[in-house]
Amino acid sequence: MSNPAIQDLVCCMGQPVAGNPTQFMMERAFAAAGLEWRYLTLEVSPVQLADAVRGMRAMGFRGGNFTIPHKVAVVPLLDGLTPSAELMGAVNCVYRQEDKLIGDNTDGRGFVKSLREMTDPASKEIAILGAGGAARAIAVELGLTRPANITVVNRTPERGEELASLLRDKVGIAANSVVWHGDYAVPPTTQIVVNATSIGLGDGQARVPVDAGSLTAEMIVADVIFNPPQTRFLREAASRGCRTLDGLGMLVNQAVIGFKIWTGVDPDPRVMREALEEYLEI
Ligand code: NDP
Repeated sequence: MSNPAIQDLVCCMGQPVAGNPTQFMMERAFAAAGLEWRYLTLEVSPVQLADAVRGMRAMGFRGGNFTIPHKVAVVPLLDGLTPSAELMGAVNCVYRQEDKLIGDNTDGRGFVKSLREMTDPASKEIAILGAGGAARAIAVELGLTRPANITVVNRTPERGEELASLLRDKVGIAANSVVWHGDYAVPPTTQIVVNATSIGLGDGQARVPVDAGSLTAEMIVADVIFNPPQTRFLREAASRGCRTLDGLGMLVNQAVIGFKIWTGVDPDPRVMREALEEYLEI
């Protein structure tokens, strides 16, 4: 394969970057679409983020993903934000519009796209466990679909209430926060439950403190954790008869959305899913 033109590069900036499933998916999808683009994984420390973004501009990168710990810090370094990134105050995907770098957030859209394969979140009662970056992105995108209510359940009260008030004041939906003490009993009217905490990452036995007896067969239970995809939380939910949604779909879909933003081309999601499964040795 010939060397790509320099403008056909996108990157992922994060720290630390041990391995990057998104790079693996993107490179496969570029090849499948016949695009001679490259996706580079770059380890960038927080103190060098501004220089790295300047370098991205100078070298004409088409865009990039920004991951932990840069999703919020990158915001002031950009020229503009999409409305949903503005609401979330966090960016995971940057694209070039002429000579400007625009920040978007595809995490929540990736989640909603995979949830829609099971149900329409509009008018549903939703509980989100967690109030960190992933929870914020998911809550805002779910909020834009006009659910009946979102309950944010979080260990740190201030963070949970901050997200609930964002949903009420900026997204304009009914939302409340609950402080997470001990095992959370999911209210029986809840239709969708999302674990958006980091519990379960890299540990298939880690327990999300939820009263399993409160999960009913009418509920859809989702987890953002993609490695391992069959978390203990999802296994418990399935054993109660719930329909479950793993974090792989969200990860594939945020990549599908990013690919389209950068290249203007619709990638083959099956190629990306297969690449991800190969990468994770599932
Ligand atoms: P953050 O660090 O921003 O937030 C973590 C959240 O988990 C906080 O709400 C925190 O609560 C909560 N939490 C952590 N440990 C516990 C615990 N023991 N008990 C109760 N609550 C706990 O992380 P992110 O939101 O950025 O990421 C969360 C997860 O989402 C990660 O595992 C990440 O891999 C995954 N993710 C998956 C994606 C996908 O495509 N599938 C995309 C993006 C992220 P508190 O506020 O009290 O500290």
